[in-house]
Amino acid sequence: MVTLLAFLACDASAPPARVVVLGMDGLEYTALDRYAEDLPNFARFFDGALRADMEVTRPIMSPILWTTMASGYGVEEHGVGGWTNGQGRSFTGADVRVARVWDVLSAEGRGSVVSGWLMTWPAPAIEGALLSDRFVWSVPMSRDPSQPVHSEDRAVTTFPDSVASIAAELLPTDAELRAMPLGYQVEKYGAPSHPLRRDELHTRVFEALWPANNADFGALYLNGADQVSHIYWPFADPGIQATIRADPTAHKHAVDEVLAKFPSRPMPVYGEQGLDATGLAEAARWVPDYYRYLDGVLGRVMDTVGPEVTLVVCSDHGFQVSQSKPLVDGQHHEIAVFAARGPRVKPQVGAAMHVYDVAPTLYALLGLPAAADMPGRVRDDLFELDVAEPVPSRVLERAQIDVGAGEGGAGDEALREQLEALGYIDEEGRPNTAIGESRKRPGDGPGGRGPRKPGAR
Ligand SMILES: [Zn+2]
Repeated sequence: MVTLLAFLACDASAPPARVVVLGMDGLEYTALDRYAEDLPNFARFFDGALRADMEVTRPIMSPILWTTMASGYGVEEHGVGGWTNGQGRSFTGADVRVARVWDVLSAEGRGSVVSGWLMTWPAPAIEGALLSDRFVWSVPMSRDPSQPVHSEDRAVTTFPDSVASIAAELLPTDAELRAMPLGYQVEKYGAPSHPLRRDELHTRVFEALWPANNADFGALYLNGADQVSHIYWPFADPGIQATIRADPTAHKHAVDEVLAKFPSRPMPVYGEQGLDATGLAEAARWVPDYYRYLDGVLGRVMDTVGPEVTLVVCSDHGFQVSQSKPLVDGQHHEIAVFAARGPRVKPQVGAAMHVYDVAPTLYALLGLPAAADMPGRVRDDLFELDVAEPVPSRVLERAQIDVGAGEGGAGDEALREQLEALGYIDEEGRPNTAIGESRKRPGDGPGGRGPRKPGAR
């Protein structure tokens, strides 16, 4: 009897947790510290939280890393090699050759709510609800509200189909976006291209779906910190600010140099004249203002999921001033954010995390085994966990891979234009090495690629 009670007590010590992962692409610790006074929800979150520095794998590319975090596998196993395959085709969820957390939970009859996670289109059939990363691209900004979106454009962008109607209702309008505190950025950048439309949609859909589904797992992905930091990071950096203030021509010279070296590079959104002190003052607000927006999102998510859910906030890489073009670009940094708060967390600051450990640890939190062929490990030093015996593998057999439907369509075109405008890929769909710093070797340059499309910048 004593033994049985002890066994039961032990078994009950770590029942499966409910876990939500709030993924913020490009979120950087030094910025969270720099703007801490303006980020009350991050302060609330970090108080009594686990705060770890997460090392990521190279190349530092978002689709690769977010797929690794959701699956536990590296690029060779999971099959998503970046944004495009180098022959003009975008990688999609149909390329993923491993199970992700929501697939494994579904097989157990347990639900997930997934909103906006990279490489989730075509939307897989799961227990729970999923808004794919393509939905937002399938609804053009300029559409006439009286005209229903063509059903083919909407196909397989959500699961179940009813999520598409919910998302269409929640999609922020142009007027709404311009009325928000980030409205000045939307104005300058254009509402379809600025990340606020996507991030706000993904957040609203998560807020709507989480309470309505009794899910064990949630995954919400936001892209804006990455996109804004690529262009505006230098102007939020005190050292770069001092350089530009000391020499009002410094920024124009730097822009000229980059445009001369990379003739096909998109024109910066702030124009070719470069920034003087007045322009700098405005440009300096972009990154901190976006962090304020993300702070608001974190508060909304904390309120939506409540304190009984283990909440993970993570990024796929940090940001820093570009080493080769310090006055012009932000650049990915290899230390990402991994922080967690909730019932099963062992609070500590400065622990070392690795991107390979994310999925095995999520599985353990959810009461599921990781796989023996995953390169990472279950982090029972960071969470209260019972580590289950691993299964051999979560790599899918060919026959298990549902390639879904869809040939890209309008959503693919819109996404590709966006990636091109950001400098992630060129017109032929090749990764742009001018921004993919992690892949760049000294002396490499994208070279001339002919004229850009009008309007691309
Ligand atoms: Zn990223």
